[in-house]
Amino acid sequence: MSFDFGPAVALSCRECGARYDLGPSFACLECFGPLEVAYDFGTVTRAQIESGPASVWRYRALLPVPADVASKRNMNPGWTKLVRADGLAKALGLKSLHVKDDSGNPTHSFKDRVVAMAVEAARNFGFHTLSCSSTGNLAGAVTAAAARAGFDACVFIPADLEHAKIAMARVFGGRLIGIDGTYDEVNRFCSELIGDPLGEKWGFVNVNLRPYYAEGSKTLAYEIAEQLGWRLPDQIVIPIASGSQLTKIDKGFRELVALGLVEDKPYRVFGAQATGCSPVAAAFKAGHDVVQPVKPDTIAKSLAIGNPADGPYVLDIARRTGGAVEDVSDAEVVEAIKLLAETEGIFAETAGGVTVGVLRKLVETGKLDPSLETVVLNTGDGLKTLDAVSSVARPTAVIKPSLDAFRKVN
Ligand SMILES: *Cc1c(COP(=O)(O)O)cnc(C)c1O
Ligand SMILES: [Zn+2]
Repeated sequence: MSFDFGPAVALSCRECGARYDLGPSFACLECFGPLEVAYDFGTVTRAQIESGPASVWRYRALLPVPADVASKRNMNPGWTKLVRADGLAKALGLKSLHVKDDSGNPTHSFKDRVVAMAVEAARNFGFHTLSCSSTGNLAGAVTAAAARAGFDACVFIPADLEHAKIAMARVFGGRLIGIDGTYDEVNRFCSELIGDPLGEKWGFVNVNLRPYYAEGSKTLAYEIAEQLGWRLPDQIVIPIASGSQLTKIDKGFRELVALGLVEDKPYRVFGAQATGCSPVAAAFKAGHDVVQPVKPDTIAKSLAIGNPADGPYVLDIARRTGGAVEDVSDAEVVEAIKLLAETEGIFAETAGGVTVGVLRKLVETGKLDPSLETVVLNTGDGLKTLDAVSSVARPTAVIKPSLDAFRKVN
């Protein structure tokens, strides 16, 4: 078979460096390490990127996709706003802050970016069914992309997710299976399914298509740098579920430097978790290299992965760049959602409450330098997690339609 993955030339093992032909595989046969996409980039210029579409496809020369990808039936996610956040900066005592607001993607979370790459891989490999294990946002991103690109979908979620995420995962058609268990159990189930005749011909975006899928997160790095005027930020705060997004943002920054698209400079990467699911933060604080799995218990369900596959790589990056991994309680998550909403007019889902809450804590504890240029990610839309704010976002008063009644509560 001949595939068209644009500049991608191979899969390589992140642990031992063994190389493999591009294919629907995800683990090294030598050492079981995770595989990632390796490239042979030609010359890539700022002008070439700037003349591209207002979507992730402006970076197609840096992604495992064919050159004509923009003409295919896909969701065209990305190129979301980088919002100058002077109000939040003032509230937190920071000199310069931007919010990269990924709630503006087609299905209102950052997951459209990664799914867009997985869809192109599925096309290449001739899969007809797209599947995934999801903490919520991924299921909706997969079913929407499948509807648009003409795939069947069968996605798996923990049965106790937020109503909005269940509805979004089902409205686009396809099959949605709720599983009585945690995300980690759903994920384990999918790994079993892939080895069974039932699922062996499916493209699981975050299992057998994971090397391609993961590359989609690099586009966050590219966009942030381009939107800052082709500069890297000094500090960035990124949420952690599996940790994939964080590792790929770092990879994206390093590629831009290597290609000469931005100047080389130090930057600090900070990871954010909810205390109720903070195995990476715990390992960071304890100085450990391994991440001890936990059973999640937090309102930040989109980040509730108790056994994060990329945890050890996240620890490496936070330590290498002089960053940190920090966590905040559910109450702090809700406060942070309110703070971001009231200072910037941005309504974040719980994952955004986690990053903003962690940003605040990092400033208060002196781990983040308030004089440096900082970017914080909001990866999802507050309308997806309305229950989280139900206690703090009620009517100020409910009155009869009379001036008298209003006078009493005014
Ligand atoms: C999936 C997700 C993330 C990050 O996921 P990783 O597995 O760490 O790449 C962040 N925010 C939201 C809202 C998500 O749905
Ligand atoms: Zn290996």
